[in-house]
Amino acid sequence: MRDTGDKLRRIAAAVRGRCLFDEPLFRHTSFRIGGPADLLVAPADPDDLRTALKALDRKVPSYIIGNGSNILVSDRGIRGAVIWIGKGFRQFERRGGLLKLGAGHSLPGLVDQCRALGLSGMEWAAGIPGSLGGALVMNAGAYGGQMADVVESVFGYLPSGKPAELSAPEIKFSYRRARYPSGFVITGCRMKLASGNPAAIRRRMDKWLGKRRANQPLSLPSAGCIFKNPEGDSARRLIGLAGLRGRRVGGAQVSAKHANFIVNYGGARAADVRKLMDQVTKGVRRECGVQLAPEVKMIGEW
Ligand SMILES: Cc1cc2nc3c(=O)[nH]c(=O)nc-3n(C[C@H](O)[C@H](O)[C@H](O)COP(=O)(O)OP(=O)(O)OC[C@H]3O[C@@H](n4cnc5c(N)ncnc54)[C@H](O)[C@@H]3O)c2cc1C
Repeated sequence: MRDTGDKLRRIAAAVRGRCLFDEPLFRHTSFRIGGPADLLVAPADPDDLRTALKALDRKVPSYIIGNGSNILVSDRGIRGAVIWIGKGFRQFERRGGLLKLGAGHSLPGLVDQCRALGLSGMEWAAGIPGSLGGALVMNAGAYGGQMADVVESVFGYLPSGKPAELSAPEIKFSYRRARYPSGFVITGCRMKLASGNPAAIRRRMDKWLGKRRANQPLSLPSAGCIFKNPEGDSARRLIGLAGLRGRRVGGAQVSAKHANFIVNYGGARAADVRKLMDQVTKGVRRECGVQLAPEVKMIGEW
């Protein structure tokens, strides 16, 4: 433990970006839930990330986060280093419809930038509060669109610090899934968008944003849809059918507005959310005979 502490201090001394010890992760998740990370590192740029990876030397446990909008961090937090891919990764290069983008862009900001340039293909992502890096890991999607439709390749670093670029076919995108080498840290991607009229793009974005506002409990902290949709069905429908809408454990509640959202009603702990997820999984299995799989990533010490 003391050994790991020394290594973490050496990492903090080696990188140029911000380093925070014992940083509570509820400050970095859309759920507003999560215990402390031993060390949170925000590399200043891709070179600085490489320095951090080399200093980690694959000996200190590490975890990557983007905007923290699809993770449930345990109450005890994360031992080792958490690397935040954010501000230092906002490259934006354009040649016609081809874009080279940093993983630290937030999706809503990126979608709006594309709209202003008359680039179409990402409108569906307008209200998704993730980073581009997180969206590439999750193959984020909504309203018939998904990352796989626009991505040409994804680049980043292997845990050794060696750069690598993978083509879209190599990544094998599928529903809320993508395959990368173990420990791969995404720093950006190449994307191909079509040209479009900014006003028409705006109208499509507004349509999807309106649907979100009407259907999702956006005034309370959450991680979006908590379970994946089973093939040919909707988790929201099944959870409703099983009579679990509004079910509560501690500060966590199955949203009455959208049954596939668990919301932090106030002071929810990760343990509350997990317990509620267990109850929902069991209830749906019992009432509907369907096994739900979580979409949210559960991380840390449980
Ligand atoms: C209100 C709300 C609505 C949502 N709506 C949608 C929706 O319509 N469709 C949808 O698909 N999702 C939706 N989500 C979920 C979430 O926003 C997406 O999955 C998003 O793409 C996650 O991005 P993130 O940066 O927050 O990732 P994080 O939550 O930070 O991380 C998610 C996973 O990606 C990994 N990761 C993140 N960045 C990197 C990186 N640079 N390199 C390597 N690994 C990385 C993490 O280790 C983790 O395993 C919603 C969430 C909320 C709160």
